[in-house]
Amino acid sequence: MEERLEYRIFTYSAYLLNKFGKKVFRIGLSTGKPCPHRIENGGCIFCNPNTFTGEYQSQNFSIKEQYTNAIPRVKKACGDVQLLAYFQDETSTYGDIEFLKQKFDEALSHPEVIGLVVSTRPDYINAEVVKLLASYEVPVTIEIGMQSIHNKSLELLNRGHTFEQVEESIRICGEAGLTVGVHLILGIPNETFSEMLQTIKWISSNKYISQVKFHNLVVYKNTKLAQMKNIPIYPIEEHIKTLGKLIPYLRGNIAVSRLFTSNIRRTQIAVDEYKGNKTQWINSLRKYLYENNLNQGNKTDMKYDFRKYYK
Ligand code: SF4
Repeated sequence: MEERLEYRIFTYSAYLLNKFGKKVFRIGLSTGKPCPHRIENGGCIFCNPNTFTGEYQSQNFSIKEQYTNAIPRVKKACGDVQLLAYFQDETSTYGDIEFLKQKFDEALSHPEVIGLVVSTRPDYINAEVVKLLASYEVPVTIEIGMQSIHNKSLELLNRGHTFEQVEESIRICGEAGLTVGVHLILGIPNETFSEMLQTIKWISSNKYISQVKFHNLVVYKNTKLAQMKNIPIYPIEEHIKTLGKLIPYLRGNIAVSRLFTSNIRRTQIAVDEYKGNKTQWINSLRKYLYENNLNQGNKTDMKYDFRKYYK
């Protein structure tokens, strides 16, 4: 049988295809507001805003202008796809509720947009925002920057929130019927494999979480991380093996929407431990999973069964 990564990991593309019945592409958007945690508290130690503002998005453009820039390029590259409005930039629930409503309404008013995805911090999720998001009649996903269940790691990263706040934000979003995804960082300094495993086991046991995004900790220039005395090195090879070992503990129906920090900006890297490219990394992970017979969910109560998605 063909050795495809999708046969070992429940990928986000399989999830989207199954949910919408057609190819779907996320259009990255910005509300135009910067992250309050960076402005008010200095931000996370790994954060360099020059590295995560996507190619298509801009804080200076209206939603309409952002669509005008992005949609023709997406259609040219991907063909006839359906679209999700993806507020990915900074902390996308920051701002008063009227401001947010106006942004989300405008994004959803596009005739080809069939859903909304909003990425944010746990401490910027509250009952008012959740009520607004739950009021839309299209599928809405909230992506929460969780990073780890360990408060010592959140403190070290200067995340400015606790694990208890993460837990509460997931609960209120899940209870309101939003689809919940979480972002995780692997390779946090002083975090052991067994601590990362505890985070994965917690995610698998949480009934509200249905998507996860993995990031490998990247050391960018102009960050507090890059100024640390002993800069923590988390090479890509180690990340691939760590991921491979963690995947069996991830519940089989949690869609994996990212495996690596996306679009690493080479010009911004302080410590270059990321030889190769994403295609090569995915290939290495695929090989590692097949050679070691590792499947998502094998060590949980719910195994991933690719045959549901790939006949
Ligand atoms: S929450 Fe996100 S945008 Fe804000 S400082 Fe941390 S990494 Fe940067």
